[in-house]
Amino acid sequence: MTETRTTCPYCGVGCGVVASVSGDQIQIRGDQHHPSNFGKLCSKGVRLAETLGVRGRLMHPSIKGERDSWSRTLAYVGHKFRQAVDQHGPDSVAFYLSGQLLTEDYYVANKLMKGFIGSANVDTNSRLCMSSAVAAHKRGLGSDSVPGCYEDFELADLVVLVGSNMSWCHPVLFQRLQAARRARPRMRLVVIDPRRTATAEAADQHLAIRPGGDLALFHGLLRFLIEQGQQRPDAHQLPGWSDIQASLQAYDLARVARETDLNRDDIVDFYRQFATSPQVVTGFSMGINQSEQGVDQGNAILNCHLVTDRIGRPGMGPFSLTGQPNAMGGREVGGLANTLAAHRELDDEAARQAIAELWCSPQLASRPGLKAVELFEAMERGQIKAVWIMGTNPAVSLPDSGQVARALQACPLVVVSDCVSGTDTQRYADVLLPATGWGEKAGTVTNSERRLSRQRAFLPASGEARADWWMLCQMAKAMGFNYGFNFTNEADIFREHAALSAINGRLGGAFDIGALATLTDQQYQQLAPLQWPQPAGQPLQLNNQRLFASHPASPPQGQLHLSSPVTSPAPAGWVLNNGRYRDQWHTMTRTGLSSQLGRHRPWPEISLHPDDARLLDVTANDLLTLEAGDGTLRLPVALSAQQRRGELFAPIHWSGQYSGQAAVNAVVGRGRDSLSGQPGFKGARVQAL
Ligand code: SF4
Repeated sequence: MTETRTTCPYCGVGCGVVASVSGDQIQIRGDQHHPSNFGKLCSKGVRLAETLGVRGRLMHPSIKGERDSWSRTLAYVGHKFRQAVDQHGPDSVAFYLSGQLLTEDYYVANKLMKGFIGSANVDTNSRLCMSSAVAAHKRGLGSDSVPGCYEDFELADLVVLVGSNMSWCHPVLFQRLQAARRARPRMRLVVIDPRRTATAEAADQHLAIRPGGDLALFHGLLRFLIEQGQQRPDAHQLPGWSDIQASLQAYDLARVARETDLNRDDIVDFYRQFATSPQVVTGFSMGINQSEQGVDQGNAILNCHLVTDRIGRPGMGPFSLTGQPNAMGGREVGGLANTLAAHRELDDEAARQAIAELWCSPQLASRPGLKAVELFEAMERGQIKAVWIMGTNPAVSLPDSGQVARALQACPLVVVSDCVSGTDTQRYADVLLPATGWGEKAGTVTNSERRLSRQRAFLPASGEARADWWMLCQMAKAMGFNYGFNFTNEADIFREHAALSAINGRLGGAFDIGALATLTDQQYQQLAPLQWPQPAGQPLQLNNQRLFASHPASPPQGQLHLSSPVTSPAPAGWVLNNGRYRDQWHTMTRTGLSSQLGRHRPWPEISLHPDDARLLDVTANDLLTLEAGDGTLRLPVALSAQQRRGELFAPIHWSGQYSGQAAVNAVVGRGRDSLSGQPGFKGARVQAL
């Protein structure tokens, strides 16, 4: 029997797992030595072995449905991309990536598009998940850096969870939190969420806030904390302090109660708990990020921690809970259309020069590329001549599925690399490239607490599957780039990535893993999970737990920012919220293979309050049809007193391809945050028929 230590491929908790292989028997257990989960796993992690094997896999490269060799297929892709760039310019091509990719895949894709093709049209499904938190971090902290670590959830006196169903979406971190509450019963948990989720059920206080009320709630909190004299002594020196004072005055209790639909006593109770708890962690997730004011909402939370100095020390700080296993790794390499590489910005001249020099870049992208929704809009207009979609299923996961379908139909060349076959997106593909899946591929991921962990292979590749980074290197050569892509293994790529990160460190950034740039292949293979930063010239530390410790004196370089809610008249209709089920992941291409995981919620449902059901004259299991634009969602009804009146909930996982009109994004519009480009998935307006 062989045992391999690797990392779970699902959520941003990034749990370590041990895979034991004996013949064709595979067993998965939690890795007790992994400092993010200490051996714990959730239902999805426990069932990983059931999702492995060749069932449902993409096995061979193909062009227009005809199986072909790797060399001919990638030569064809390279030729088509080259032709588009020569005829229409670098911005006529694009990559659309995934938080499922490993950092090494992300690195090569970003290098090729931004450093060699010369366009920043490389975006990712992480745009849908945490890009508002990224922008809020940059504004509030000066860089996109999560200040704390998971241990802070255990050390806090008060944990506030906003727009996060942590019990279902980050289950092992929730297990850690619950264990800490059992050990220290005076710890308090407040959950702010329109729905009474499993997490809210477990809380000491649940604030069933009106969707979009978070700005008022946190601005009111900041005003309350200042009235209580909670501001740090040097608060007046924080950039933005004087700008926000006048606006804050508007957030008295009456306004907060009006805009949140919350009872005044409950609001004051929450505010008092915050004010009387020296150690507070505020975890925020999709309910904050997936909003048309997601960045402002993130900053409203950061403000409360910055002004009261609850940041950078044990048991304190704002904490962005990322959804995907490698959402942060993609950010580190610059895998977003508005960032460069080495965690730097596209307009950072010093970084541009250093990166161009290290890459020997023939032409470095100079302006931001198209963010996810913009990219598919440009595609529909005919501006994108070739797109390569890696490890994601935008036909289901992007808002306005009808528009995404039109965009993919309009694009002359759609390349899809994936480990599974038959996704909705693949119906529009001209070229299919089989990618290695979890258990077959190797590289690194970075979880929500800045911890790099190795994913290691313990199975042979299925069929002719290859790593995405390998495909990209072959394609780069086919485009005529005869240097820069001669990597022989993942360690080669990782060393270059680590060397590049030192540029960020030299320019004052927190992300710096320069110390890992000299790892041998063997050291890379054996690399233990560790948190960044790890600057060159210093001994490796497994835990680098907190950034922006304000004592003795290292305040963040960002600024306070206070925006008022945008109150445009909402269209009439029902508010449709969406999110995850406990045992499913994304569009179910992997978790759908486990019959055990299907038992928890076997089919998708529209949840609504029993009083609303009476109003609509439906009852449990009746089919309810929702419409918005030209999209339709038709699902059975589930009666739930956990829903606020006037609000509906449906899961994100099902597609229209397999289950009729079950894809929730068919009725979610393309409205998005103007700063981050993150779609406002949570506040769709629909008609119920
Ligand atoms: Fe995997 Fe997340 Fe569950 Fe951990 S909590 S086992 S990373 S899905």
